[in-house]
Amino acid sequence: SKSDHKGIFRFYNDELYQSIRSKLDAEEELRYAIAKKQFFMVYQPRVDTRTGDIRGFEALVRWQHPTRGIVPPAQFIELAESTGSIVPLGSLVMDCVFRQIAAWQNMGETPVPISLNISPRQLDAGGVDQQIKDLMKRHKVSADLIEIELTESVMMSEVPAVIDQITAIRQMGIKLHLDDFGTGYSSLSRLQEIEMQVIKIDRAFVSRLGTSSQADVLVKTIVLMAKELDMSIIAEGVETIAQLETLQHLDCDEAQGYLIAKPVTAPEARKLLQQRRIF
Ligand code: C2E
Ligand code: CA
Ligand code: CA
Ligand code: CA
Repeated sequence: SKSDHKGIFRFYNDELYQSIRSKLDAEEELRYAIAKKQFFMVYQPRVDTRTGDIRGFEALVRWQHPTRGIVPPAQFIELAESTGSIVPLGSLVMDCVFRQIAAWQNMGETPVPISLNISPRQLDAGGVDQQIKDLMKRHKVSADLIEIELTESVMMSEVPAVIDQITAIRQMGIKLHLDDFGTGYSSLSRLQEIEMQVIKIDRAFVSRLGTSSQADVLVKTIVLMAKELDMSIIAEGVETIAQLETLQHLDCDEAQGYLIAKPVTAPEARKLLQQRRIF
């Protein structure tokens, strides 16, 4: 009957309404959280595969939610990217990291480079190079102490303004990491054109090490290629001793992952820094 149809129609409308409503709520909440600076950074070390010496830290953002506790980026980065909130959030992240480096310098710690993850949307919005330049000056942080992690999709960009920012950042003497290598669509020839200094092999490849000869060959080939291109190479997501030993055997420069250390708070990172090495 007519009223049944109406009922069904209303039901679907309510569902749609609820899903839009909850997305708007989440968006609003994230915007509020950014305004209130409810974020902090954790730092995950990467080490020399052979000696265990700390070669650097990767800065990773966390949301200190007032009721939900610590929220990992998997639960908000996508929303931040799709709504553009990643731009102010990214500024917050950069600010926090530069301030942290300056603080460690002032405490007299021998610093190691800290790498920052930059989203494509931040580069689309523009001015990332200038922002970094200003922060370096304000906090007296030299170019060798900051590194930038970009994914393949960013590196394959044809947008002149994006390429210009990446070029400017590189010309400041800041090292660029090609993050999540192997998961994107970069062609090997493009790898030669874009001057990146570091390749990070994605965890997907590292976790398959030792499970098949193909998996080992793949990583071996990536390591050899990186060496040919004069790039250094980091394996991410190293979780077992067997994986670490295979990486040593394959002459992979650096390793990062739960086996070595989980991401830690700034005070814990400082302690690691004083230790200088992890194994
Ligand atoms: P990513 O850049 O690939 O970072 C590596 C992620 O793998 C981190 O997750 C890290 O905690 C996790 N990880 C490290 N070692 C292991 C391991 O041995 N096993 C496993 N299973 N995982 C490991 P996290 O911190 O949750 O970050 C997830 C992603 O969120 C990052 O992936 C990055 O794409 C994004 N992200 C994090 N912080 C930022 C940020 O400040 N800005 C931007 N734009 N993106 C960020
Ligand atoms: Ca990364
Ligand atoms: Ca990665
Ligand atoms: Ca990733």
